[in-house]
Amino acid sequence: MSQAAVGTTVGSATHCPYCALQCGMYVGKGEITPREDIPANAGGLCQKGWTAAELLTSPDRLTTPLLHGSPVSWDEALDHVAARIEAIRAEHGPDAVAVFGGGGLTNEKAYQLGKFARVALRTSQIDYNGRFCMSSAAAAVNRAFGMDRGLPFPITDIARAGAVLFAGGNVAETMPPFVRHLTAMRSGGGRLVVVDPRLTQTAKMADLHLQVTPGTDLALALGLLHIAIAEGYADLDYLAARTTGFEEVRTSVSAWWPERVERVTGVPVAQMREAVRILGEAERAMVLTGRGAEQHAKGTDTVTAFVNLALTLGLPGREGSGYGCVTGQGNGQGGREHGQKADQLPGYRKIDDPAARAHVAAVWGIDPAGLPGRGRSAYELLDALGTPEGPRALLLFGSNPVVSAPRAGHVARRLDALDLLVVSDFVLSETAAMADVVLPTTQWAEEAGTMTNLEGRVLLRRQAAAPPPGARSDLEILHGLAERLGCGEKFPADPRTVFDELRRASAGGVADYSGITYERIAAETGVFWPCPETAGDPHSDPHPGTPRPFLDGFATPDGRARLVPVDHRPPAEDVDEEFPLYLTSGRVLAHYQSGAQTRRIRPLTQASPEVFVELHPDLAERLGVAPGDRVRVRSRRGAAEGVARVNASIRPDTLFMPFHWEGVNLLTNPALDPVSRMPEFKVCAAAIERCAEDGERVA
Ligand code: SF4
Repeated sequence: MSQAAVGTTVGSATHCPYCALQCGMYVGKGEITPREDIPANAGGLCQKGWTAAELLTSPDRLTTPLLHGSPVSWDEALDHVAARIEAIRAEHGPDAVAVFGGGGLTNEKAYQLGKFARVALRTSQIDYNGRFCMSSAAAAVNRAFGMDRGLPFPITDIARAGAVLFAGGNVAETMPPFVRHLTAMRSGGGRLVVVDPRLTQTAKMADLHLQVTPGTDLALALGLLHIAIAEGYADLDYLAARTTGFEEVRTSVSAWWPERVERVTGVPVAQMREAVRILGEAERAMVLTGRGAEQHAKGTDTVTAFVNLALTLGLPGREGSGYGCVTGQGNGQGGREHGQKADQLPGYRKIDDPAARAHVAAVWGIDPAGLPGRGRSAYELLDALGTPEGPRALLLFGSNPVVSAPRAGHVARRLDALDLLVVSDFVLSETAAMADVVLPTTQWAEEAGTMTNLEGRVLLRRQAAAPPPGARSDLEILHGLAERLGCGEKFPADPRTVFDELRRASAGGVADYSGITYERIAAETGVFWPCPETAGDPHSDPHPGTPRPFLDGFATPDGRARLVPVDHRPPAEDVDEEFPLYLTSGRVLAHYQSGAQTRRIRPLTQASPEVFVELHPDLAERLGVAPGDRVRVRSRRGAAEGVARVNASIRPDTLFMPFHWEGVNLLTNPALDPVSRMPEFKVCAAAIERCAEDGERVA
């Protein structure tokens, strides 16, 4: 296959701009057609995918750099940014310049951003919004399996399972084509158990819905494991042969008897027993988690508890069974593998591992001693901006933290305190609107690059449309800045060249991409990592890729999975008299993440025009709130308004708000998980009141 045929053909097969399912699609003449050859969607798309072509012609599109709000040339913009970086570095040192990336960036961009921070800027201060998405699940499975691959099996394996327990995921709204895999499972006689505080569209499909109190998923998992052991479902042969730590975990869950768990979680004992029976009696079964269980200050331990359950039942590493976390952002998987994380180098290497530093430094042509060490995690980095000890400048790519970060009002104030804020985006997001310099970038279908979907399948996003004059790719922007900082030759702007370097940098790492090429991805509709380059010519003797990495052993030094004892604790901020309700957040069908893209697409804004607050009819009656009333929700960090939606699908003690608009994250709690540094997005204490006509609070 020629190079021209792969990656650069305008009007060809590509993938959706949004979520981690990365549905295959054809983009041509402003129309989207789904691809049949990509197993994740196999001819399906959701409303967001069908309408994605509108992004390419959005009237809000930026095509000229902005300096303090005024249009300038690219040279003026890049000269200004480079000069300010040099001045700030000279005055405050290299860590005074920070970089913030995104889980939607291609592998090439994520890789180049990490390299740019460490090589061009020499800063340790880089992290990304994927910290807010996958970090708890990643920390837990690294601890348990020695490798973090969201689904360590092809998504089509779900259809072969006899039971699936899904904790904290609402794929019927977030990634509807995923549902076909659950439906196929149920059509084959399989049963679905969903854990969620709300009766979501996914929970409505379930055979059993465990309507857990927000912030108590960990207690529920401990209770399920207690029952599984007590009722004889532990697979003792598997545990002896393939794991360590079961006895410690067995002892630790003995205190979580079912009636105690019912008191903590609100889930009836009979339902817990039924869930365990469904999982334990299935020949093949899966435990899946999503952000609902993971975005907590105890998210790592919560996922660990569900992994312990899966291991006790003997599921991971068996075909058609297993544990998986369902990744959210478009390149949530690949974006966490190649170095835009504060503690990481390409190939999922640790930045404080001397061998990893030596390998990557050799690929980058620098002295390992010159590589910075570990930096601040995402929220800690945002929280430090503009403080005497923190960075004075921030370069931000593919993220909109003014909407998506916890305690977002505080984050906006920190951004405002910077000496220099540079944002690369293709629309004027809420964060870009605050920037000193805005760099107009190309978007998904206008550029080539690879994405790694929720299965760990590396996919090729071909260029399918010409970019508008004036927009430049993030790789071109990094090249232009590097040139001005004296190292342009280390930062090529061509994605294929960057990918080839990424392959070398990842070689021998956990996430080894060295055997993957654009040609192979195109010919095989994706390649699963790890995929090392075999001895000899990779084109004549390629590694087949690894769809199910744990069949023969886990990626730990002894090949055994680790069960780790964990214990439940209350939310970082529990309800009290002043703030008597739990507030949780999530997504709706029509929108994606901070909404910077989907809020600019007419059919999507018509379908879901504004922020709403979902509350139970009993609560609404008590407060005198009717459907459609404007309500104000308050927490210790701020207040936000929305339109009341009253329905019985939510617990009476819980409020729900979607996070696609500025609003709910003004209220969320930035308490961090001690291991993953994940903020507690999914639960905080809140109060609600009806607003008067003039927007004032009703006394
Ligand atoms: Fe597929 Fe996700 Fe895009 Fe919807 S948003 S079409 S589920 S990739």
